[in-house]
Amino acid sequence: MRVFMLIPGIEIPHLCFQCDNPECVEACPEGAISVDEQIGGIRVDESLCTACGICIDACPGRIPHMHPSEGHVVICDLCGGDPECVRVCQEGNWNALSLGEDGIKKPLPETPQSLTRTTGGTILGEKTLREVWDQ
Ligand code: SF4
Ligand code: SF4
Ligand code: SF4
Repeated sequence: MRVFMLIPGIEIPHLCFQCDNPECVEACPEGAISVDEQIGGIRVDESLCTACGICIDACPGRIPHMHPSEGHVVICDLCGGDPECVRVCQEGNWNALSLGEDGIKKPLPETPQSLTRTTGGTILGEKTLREVWDQ
């Protein structure tokens, strides 16, 4: 996970979007990345991954993370179908993360820009948001 701070003080987690046509899957020369048919999440077969990093460059958000010591990439696997990040976000009453409505438990159905607009408007107020963020 990475954190976007498009305006000061408004930090938005940038998670794997579980793309409909995942470019990471297409790009992997080893066939190490696939989509879990049941959960809908990305799966990395660590035994096939050669840590070449091609999937990182292929991902629009550069989301795949190279494990610092184990020689393979790590990509959100939706926690096996029960996203932990959504649970803690909702428990904290931030509600920035939610589950998708299509049966697949995507934690982040909105873009970082969209979430910044929503969260920034709530925290700063619409007038201040417009003053600090020209989008
Ligand atoms: S790692 Fe990147 S390309 Fe792959 S599904 Fe996630 S957001 Fe899409
Ligand atoms: S780093 Fe691993 S998963 Fe990514 S493209 Fe290379 S072999 Fe495939
Ligand atoms: S669903 Fe699980 S693996 Fe994916 S970002 Fe959330 S906590 Fe991490």
